[in-house]
Amino acid sequence: MKITFATANLGKLREAGEILGEGWELLSSAEAGVTEDIPENGQTLKENSLAKAEYLYKATGLDCFADDTGLEVDMLDGAPGVHTARYAGGEGHDFQANMDKLLQDMAAKERLAAEKGKAAPSRTARFHSIVTLILGGKTYFFEGTLEGLIADAKAGCGGFGYDPVFIPFAIPDPEGILVPNTRNLTLAEIPEEDKNAISHRGSALRAMAAFLQDK
Ligand code: IMP
Repeated sequence: MKITFATANLGKLREAGEILGEGWELLSSAEAGVTEDIPENGQTLKENSLAKAEYLYKATGLDCFADDTGLEVDMLDGAPGVHTARYAGGEGHDFQANMDKLLQDMAAKERLAAEKGKAAPSRTARFHSIVTLILGGKTYFFEGTLEGLIADAKAGCGGFGYDPVFIPFAIPDPEGILVPNTRNLTLAEIPEEDKNAISHRGSALRAMAAFLQDK
């Protein structure tokens, strides 16, 4: 069965293909005929995820899904959240500038707390993904999160986006069992398959794949 993913990112497409497994012909939005940038003007991850899936469905009439992801940092009251891709402004997707702004904003919060004689605020954070599936004209949502900490400085060169500053609480051991991340490795310092096994997007896509298996 054919299904289209509202993405032009070949890494995401490959990851989704591996998770969906046999029996699905997975197309990118460009392969389904949508080559323009799909607008993302929503106020929440869910609105953006839904808007992308609806845009693709209206343009192609094909079963499709879309994802939207945000990084929620507790000491920043959930920011950058829906603004994750464009946190440092501009056209967005300048990952270095986004990470630099995040680390600066967090350092400013920590300085403020220290000046007031308060305890250092927690560096806990999570990636949060919402996947919207439109199947036979009906809409379904799936969610995934990855909990961790924001590092003091960037480390590692794998992955993309905020991977060099995100330290997941748990990572897979060589047998694939989740163990505490005692070395504080960032997502950019662990193998791609380990990241995919624990990632927010992976969890949301696996929930969707389980749902599709029953269809
Ligand atoms: P999108 O909704 O998948 O486009 O994600 C929005 C932004 O979140 C991206 O531009 C990245 O900056 C960030 N992001 C999403 N997923 C990840 C990830 O797995 N690692 C690091 N950053 C991510």
